[in-house]
Amino acid sequence: MDPATIQSSTHKIRQVENSCLFCRIVAGEIPATVVHRTETTLAFRDIDPKAPTHVLVIPVAHHADVIALAADPSAAADVLATAAAVAEKEGLTDGFRVIFNTGAHGGQEVFHVHAHLVGGAPLGPMLA
Ligand code: 5GP
Repeated sequence: MDPATIQSSTHKIRQVENSCLFCRIVAGEIPATVVHRTETTLAFRDIDPKAPTHVLVIPVAHHADVIALAADPSAAADVLATAAAVAEKEGLTDGFRVIFNTGAHGGQEVFHVHAHLVGGAPLGPMLA
């Protein structure tokens, strides 16, 4: 295991043990600007938006990353359906992106899986 992987899994374990940030938002322990809620998902505005609309869509149940989410097809479908509902609510008729940062190379910082729904302006080339 390379140092980045060790660092990443240590970080993951610590977040779960200390009750993860997004689980605490689901529990109402940390405030967030909620834009949509279902029985199984929560969508709230990113605290540091990178586009006019920047909403995080999460499953209520803790899944560390998109790999874990993919193992729960019902939760994965619910997250995507919520992202689509929020895009409609936000009026993103000209398009948007749904991004799952994953692991160290993907730049994932919070290990409770979240879809970044970004839009509201032209976003430029994907890897610019
Ligand atoms: P990641 O890098 O894990 O894909 O994205 C984590 C995202 O969570 C970042 O865009 C960051 O701005 C956002 N974030 C971090 N802490 C908070 C918080 O306490 N509240 C909200 N609403 N967003 C947060």
